[in-house]
Amino acid sequence: MARTLRVFDNDPSARPKVYSSDFVGRFRAGQKLNGRPVGLSAWRITTGDPEVGKAVANLYGGIPQSWETTKEDSLEVLTDADTVKVIVDGPDAVSFRMALYGMTGKPIHACDGVEFIDTEDPRVGQPCGCPQTLQERKAGAKAGHGPKPDQRIEFRLADDPELGRFRLMTGSWDFMKSIETVWRELEAVGGPALCTLKLELVEFQTKSGVDVTYRKPVLQVHGRVPQDVGAALPSLAKHVEEPPF
Ligand SMILES: [Zn+2]
Repeated sequence: MARTLRVFDNDPSARPKVYSSDFVGRFRAGQKLNGRPVGLSAWRITTGDPEVGKAVANLYGGIPQSWETTKEDSLEVLTDADTVKVIVDGPDAVSFRMALYGMTGKPIHACDGVEFIDTEDPRVGQPCGCPQTLQERKAGAKAGHGPKPDQRIEFRLADDPELGRFRLMTGSWDFMKSIETVWRELEAVGGPALCTLKLELVEFQTKSGVDVTYRKPVLQVHGRVPQDVGAALPSLAKHVEEPPF
C-alpha cells in the first residue's frame, strides 16, 4: 500500500493532486466525425480529470462530455475559444521532429529532416534519406510514406496556471515555418513567457480557382509573465521578481 499522510485524511481537498501523466489535458484543433478527421474553428480540450474539464468549460465555453478513446483523456470540451492566453516556460517547451507513425502507434521514421534522431532507433545519427525540398517532403507525407512535422507545445493557462500543464501536438507545416521565430522569441524572454495560442483562419484561392480555408495553430510570444500571474504561480515568482533590464 502506498504511504500517505494522515493530515490529509480529514481534509482530502488539501492533498496535492498527483497525475499519472505530466499533462492534465490536451488542446486539439480537430476531431473525428464518422471516422474522418475534421478541423475545428475553436479549441477542443481533452482531459481525464473532471475538475479540469469543468474549469476549462468555465473559462472557454462548452460542456465536458465523454468521447470515444482508449487513452486517459476520456473527456472532451468543445470550447468557443479560438484564442487562449498561455504561459510557455521556454524554448524547450516547443519541440520539433519529423515523424511517420506505424500501425503500432510508434514512429517508424523519426528524424530532424536530415538524420534519424530517435535514441531507441539503431539508425540514430545516420542520414534518414528524406527529400531535400519542402515540396517533396509534403508530397511524401501526403502519400503516407514520408514523415511530417511532429511538434509539441507545452504550456499552462494564463487564466488558471495552477490547473496544470497542457499540451498541443500539431503536424502543421505552417507551424513548422514559424517555429524558429518562436524559439528565438522565447529565448529572448529568458523565462516563462506570456503567449497567445490561437487557431488562425487561413483563406486562399488555388491557381485553379478553388477556395481553400483551414485553421492553423499560431503561438505568439508577448513577453515575460506579468506580476499578477506570477503571484498565482509561486514557481514563477523568482523570475518575475527579477528587475526587468
Ligand atoms: Zn527523415
